[in-house]
Amino acid sequence: VQILVVNTGSSTVKFSLVDSTSEQVQIAGQVDWSDHPAQMQVRCGSEHYSGKYAVNSPREAVQLALGQLDENPVLKARCSAVAAVGHRVVHGGTLFQAGVRITDEVKRGLKQLCDLAPLHNPINLEGIEAAQHAWPGIPQVAVFDTAFHATLPAAARTFGLPQQWSEEWGLRRYGFHGLSHAYCTDRASTMLGRRDLRLVICHLGQGCSLSAVRNGVCVDTSMGFTPLDGLVMGTRSGSVDPGLLIHAMRHHRLSADDLDRILNRESGLLGLSGLSNDMRQLQEAADAGNQRAGLSIEVFLHRLRQTIGATAAVLGGIDALVFTAGIGENSVPIRRRACEGLEFLGLHLDQAANERCRPDADIATKESPGRILVLRTHEDLTIVRETVRVLRAEGQPG
Ligand code: AMP
Repeated sequence: VQILVVNTGSSTVKFSLVDSTSEQVQIAGQVDWSDHPAQMQVRCGSEHYSGKYAVNSPREAVQLALGQLDENPVLKARCSAVAAVGHRVVHGGTLFQAGVRITDEVKRGLKQLCDLAPLHNPINLEGIEAAQHAWPGIPQVAVFDTAFHATLPAAARTFGLPQQWSEEWGLRRYGFHGLSHAYCTDRASTMLGRRDLRLVICHLGQGCSLSAVRNGVCVDTSMGFTPLDGLVMGTRSGSVDPGLLIHAMRHHRLSADDLDRILNRESGLLGLSGLSNDMRQLQEAADAGNQRAGLSIEVFLHRLRQTIGATAAVLGGIDALVFTAGIGENSVPIRRRACEGLEFLGLHLDQAANERCRPDADIATKESPGRILVLRTHEDLTIVRETVRVLRAEGQPG
C-alpha cells in the first residue's frame, strides 16, 4: 500500500507518497508560504510541477497539496493505493508514546498538549484537520517526534528539581528528533547486522541532538523539556547555566519573551558568530581568518565531544557513533574534528574514508573496535513504518 506522509510546519508543508513495501518515495512535494504568493513544488518520477498560489495558513497549504493530488491526472494516477495519511506531530507528551490512529479523543489529547509545544502542535493539528476534511475516508495517523524517547529511564528523564515540578507540572526530559533517531537506529542495526549495539546518534542539522541507544532502545538524549537543551545549534543556545538566565532577567531586564526569542532564534552559531547559522558559511569565514566564526565552530565541537563522552559513560562504551542530518551528513571537517581524541573510546576515524564519504557509509578504520557511520536520515520512513504498524494493529492491510 501507499502512505501519504504530511509534515505541517509554520511556513511549509512537506508531503510525500511512499510505497510501504519498497519504501520508495513516489511523489514528493512542498508548499512554502514564507513569501507571497506561496510556492508549491511537486516531483513525481521525472515529472516536476510548480506554481504560485494564494496560501496563508497551514490549513490552506494542506488543502492545496491534497487537492493537487486529487486533481492533477498524473499524480492522481499514482495515488492508487493510499491506505493512510501519516502526520508528523512534534509533541506526544506522556499521553502518546507511539503512533496512534487519529480519533476525536486523540484530537482532544493533542489539544491538551499544545501548551507543551505551542509553536508546533497547534500547527500539526491544523494540518491533521485539513487532511481529514480533504480526504474524509482515509485513516489518519499521528506519529510523534518525542515517542522514540519514551523509553528514557527515570534517572535520565528527571531533572534535579523539586518533585512537584516533574510530577505535577510535567517538567521532564521529553527529547525530540525521535523520527530521525529511530530511523538511524534501524539503519545502523541493518548495516552492522545486529541489534545488540550501543549507539550514539548525533543528529546535526539546524537543530542538533544526540541520543544514546542500547539494544534498539533509547536510554538518554540531549534535548530536554524543549528542543533548546543540549548541543549548540544553528540559532538555539543549547544547555546554559540556568543561574545565568536568572542573572540576565534581573540585571539586564530581560523578560520571558525576550529570553524565548534570544535563546531560540538569536543564539547558537548565529549568536556566537554574529554572522550566520549555516555551518558552511562559518567554515568559509573561519578559513578566511574570521575569529568569531572560528570560535563558534570550536564551541559547537567542544559541546559535541563533551556530550559524546558523557553519553559513552551512560552506555558503558560505544559500538557505533552515527552522524546524520545536514552537518553530520555533509561536513567532512566537523566529523573529523568531532572524532579527534575519541580513540580512547575505540573510535578510530579513517581520514580518507571520511573525505570521500557518500552516505550511508562506515568511515572508521578497519581495525577500529567501534564503527563510525554516516547515515542519510529519512524521517519520513519512520512515519511510514509507524503508520503501517498502527494499521496492522487494527487488522488493516499495511
Ligand atoms: P538540516 O536541518 O538537517 O536540513 O541541516 C541544515 C544545516 O546543515 C545547514 O544550516 C548547514 O549548517 C548544514 N550543512 C549542510 N550542508 C553542509 C556542508 N556541506 N557543510 C557543513 N554544513 C552543512
